[in-house]
Formats: sequence, C-alpha cells, structure tokens
Amino acid sequence: MKPTMFEIESKPFFTQQGTPYMKTPGVSMLSYPSFDFNSMATFCNGFDESLGFNDFVAGSEFGELHSAEKLCKTAGQLCYMSLGPKRTKDSDAEKYFDNILSSGHGSVLEHANFSLLLYGISRSMTHEIVRHRAGFAYSQVSQRYVDGKVLRFVERPEYQDNEILHSTFEDRIDLLSKEYDHVALVLGEKMGDELNGLSNTEKRKRVNQAARSVLPNETEAPIICTANVRAWRHFLNMRGSKFAEVEVRKLAVFVHRVLMKRASLLFGDFTEVTLDDGTTGFTTPYPKV
Ligand SMILES: Cc1cc2nc3c(=O)[nH]c(=O)nc-3n(C[C@H](O)[C@H](O)[C@H](O)COP(=O)(O)OP(=O)(O)OC[C@H]3O[C@@H](n4cnc5c(N)ncnc54)[C@H](O)[C@@H]3O)c2cc1C
Repeated sequence: MKPTMFEIESKPFFTQQGTPYMKTPGVSMLSYPSFDFNSMATFCNGFDESLGFNDFVAGSEFGELHSAEKLCKTAGQLCYMSLGPKRTKDSDAEKYFDNILSSGHGSVLEHANFSLLLYGISRSMTHEIVRHRAGFAYSQVSQRYVDGKVLRFVERPEYQDNEILHSTFEDRIDLLSKEYDHVALVLGEKMGDELNGLSNTEKRKRVNQAARSVLPNETEAPIICTANVRAWRHFLNMRGSKFAEVEVRKLAVFVHRVLMKRASLLFGDFTEVTLDDGTTGFTTPYPKV
C-alpha cells in the first residue's frame, strides 16, 4: 500500500544481525475535523429569513475550504452572528485568518483537532513532546505491556553520516536488544512461583517493567498525539525554532508539512527556513496566538 499524501512514511533499517532501527520520523494523520453543513443549516434556518442566514450554507460555499478551516471560521463568525450575505466569504478566508492570527484571537483555532501518529522517534524526544500540556492528548506505546518483539531503535541524525558513530550505534543496539531479551528471560525464571496464578498480561508486565531498565533513550517510542490547531501551532513554534533540539525540530517540520495538507490557511504563516547549522526550522510573524 502506498503512503497517502497525509503522511510522511519512515521505513525501518536493519543491522546485519537483524535489529530494526529508524532514521527519520514518520508522521501519519489519523484523524481530522469534518464540518456538518446540514447541522449548521438547521441552526441558520431558525432565524428570520430577512437576515439571509440561509445564505451561509448555500451551495456556493461548499468545498471552498478544508473542514478544519471552515469549522474555525464558523466559530469566529458565530461570535458576531456574522452569517448573512455581508459576512466574510470563504473565498476571503485567507484574509479572515490573517486577521485572526495577527490580532491573537487564537481561541477559535481550538475547535479543530488533528490526531497524528508519530513514529520513528526516540523515547528522549517523546519526553520532550509530552511536556506540551495545553490542548494535547497522548497515547504512547507502553514499555510495560509490549516486549522485545516490537522493539526498534532510532539513530540520531548526527550518527548517520559518520562511520564510527554509525557502526557503534549498530553494535550497541544489537547488544541491547540481546540484553533486553536475556534480562527478560532471567527475570521470568527468577519470578517463577511469584508469577503463578497471574494472567499472561500481568506476567508480561511484571517482567517487562523491570527489563525495560536496560533500554536506552534511543529506543523508538511511537505515540498518537491529538491536539487542536492552537496547541499544534504552539508546538511548531517552540519545537521548530533554532533553539529546539535537532531531532524534535525535524519532527516539527514533518508535522507541519502534513498539517498543511489539510489546513494550509491555519498553518501557512509558518515558513521553512534553513538555519545556521544547515537544518530546517520555521519562522512565523504570528508566534503567539
Ligand atoms: C528549546 C527548549 C528547551 C527546553 N529546555 C527545557 C529544560 O531544560 N528543562 C525542562 O524541564 N524543560 C525544557 N523545555 C520544555 C519547556 O519548558 C516546556 O515544558 C515545553 O516547551 C512545553 O511548553 P509550554 O509549557 O509552553 O506548553 P503547554 O504545556 O502546552 O502550555 C501552553 C501554554 O499554556 C499556558 N499554560 C500551560 N500550563 C499552565 C499552567 N499550569 N499555568 C499557567 N499557564 C499554563 C502557558 O502559557 C503555556 O505556554 C524546553 C523547551 C524548549 C523548546
């Protein structure tokens, strides 16, 4: 199956001993808003015809905007019951959002949520991601529940073009992967009687929660992040800046590219720039919305 335009695929690499690892972040958009014109029509039709609110859902506007943009624009327009013929039309949405962004009325951007599956990223990076609290929801692979069968590692960008760092990395993950399996095996044997009577899941957790202590920061840690547009913008702003760490900055750039496919008017003010170290970051005239 080919990747869709709403994802950036990352494929695994393998050491000679078969240990899988990732070199770049993968970003898949799992969910995005959908706008229900019919429900809006029901509301609009409840007002006096002379107000012209039925014009709001007239066929002319269908399909002009992505649903996330339509939802945020409608949220803003409802505030002033700006639903009649004199409202800003969808064809002028760019100007509308420019005004929202420049005046800092970010709350209307909180209506639209996007869920992204992020993978090919390290545990040290996800520790940075989950510091973003406002407007974010997370579900991350449990190192207590899963075992060595799904274990993958992430190679730092700095190691990838250096022979010594790269081969040291491959040796290390081969070793760690074996050590993890070995520790899990010995733990299982040691716990023996202690595990009797427990469900298979509980047994696995008891073993894995201890065995994970040998896993390094460069262990892959897939995570599903759902956040509203305002929260994603804050994430992009913090993590796409020159002050951010290179791995998370690369992820931020990929996240932005995927979000742009569904809501370019809400994220289009972020422009990719080449930073002093040759990596890509962002600039935006509206960092604080
Ligand atoms: C370059 C860089 C370096 C960093 N270095 C470190 C470091 O050395 N150590 C470290 O621990 N972290 C570090 N961080 C993480 C940073 O401190 C934040 O935790 C992270 O960027 C999330 O930002 P945030 O709190 O603004 O986001 P969110 O938690 O999403 O909050 C968004 C906004 O909501 C408001 N808000 C959220 N919660 C509260 C609250 N409880 N009370 C009041 N207002 C609230 C604030 O305005 C906040 O900016 C670093 C981040 C970056 C980008």
